[in-house]
Amino acid sequence: KPILFSAIQPSGKLTIGNYIGTMRHWSKMQDDYECLYCVADLHSLTVQVKHSFLEKSILDTISFYLACGVDPNKSIIFIQSHVHQHSQLNWILNCFSQFSELSRMTQFKTKKTIIENNYFKKINVGLFNYPILMASDILLYQTNFVPVGRDQKQHVELTRNIANRLNSLYGNIFTLPTPLISEYGSKIMSLLEPKKKMSKSDINEKNVIFLLDDISSVVSKVKNAMTDSEKSSKIYFDLEKKPGISNLLEIFSALTNKEIHILSQELEGVMYSEFKNIVSEHLSKFLLQLQQSYFKYRCNESYLKKIAYEGALKAQLKAEKTLNDINSKLGLIPFL
Ligand code: ATP
Ligand code: MG
Repeated sequence: KPILFSAIQPSGKLTIGNYIGTMRHWSKMQDDYECLYCVADLHSLTVQVKHSFLEKSILDTISFYLACGVDPNKSIIFIQSHVHQHSQLNWILNCFSQFSELSRMTQFKTKKTIIENNYFKKINVGLFNYPILMASDILLYQTNFVPVGRDQKQHVELTRNIANRLNSLYGNIFTLPTPLISEYGSKIMSLLEPKKKMSKSDINEKNVIFLLDDISSVVSKVKNAMTDSEKSSKIYFDLEKKPGISNLLEIFSALTNKEIHILSQELEGVMYSEFKNIVSEHLSKFLLQLQQSYFKYRCNESYLKKIAYEGALKAQLKAEKTLNDINSKLGLIPFL
């Protein structure tokens, strides 16, 4: 079976963007792919979150994986820091990556500006290095496919470039990964600023639908979502002219599994306010169900830790194989 890898960093409360961009695809993949779903805790150290928050957030994230239908008997769920090989490969790949190519990463540039402008903090090297750790996450498992949101496309391309570089120097070491990015829903936008990606680290919570939001705040956030002042107030998909409405259409389409052009036909003559009511009804129904399942898992911490432990044991075996292979090709002498 082809190998599939995906991860989320426990750097904040998960959002509807995380769900629609990646997690909604995960359970469907389990029969046809060998799936690894990772909680990227080392990545979240690039933004310094409090000890108690990180600990809680890691277990929250595993619970959401399960609530989204990931079955630990079919897929490997694990915590990144439990598989030391990620950091080891990270160092090796650092030595084959260029400062200039990392400087071109748009996510780094955006996050750097946000941190400098809003928090007046210095930028840590981890934030700059993040794409190489991500490359290690992916390449360590000889991954074929990576379901990600569109914001991660550039990072997967970088991963392929690094893999190609090592393959041409040392023979075929790494499988080249392909990103799986759906046409719609792969970049859910902020509600009040629909030209900006919805992110769990956004300082304005009104921009974001969190998976744990209560229904009244979902309703009010959708109601206040930015639309446009086009006179006809028609509902159709147009990212340039109608970014806010298009964003709500993408969310609606992902939740109903209906194509955007069919939805636009069905919504003919419907006013923006009515459309927003329909979207929040669907969102609320979906979130209530997801939250119910989430809380069922979340209250059983020993079960969550057991899954992560067993997942890490399986992931370590695969990771060790790749790492041994590259170590010996580089000329590093094996320990035994
Ligand atoms: P942060 O602000 O901390 O970077 P994030 O919301 O971007 O948080 P990540 O953990 O960086 O979340 O990303 C996890 C996955 O979710 C990635 O595959 C990413 O592409 C996807 N993703 C994140 N935001 C969105 C979004 N707005 N729309 C679609 N997919 C998204
Ligand atoms: Mg992100």
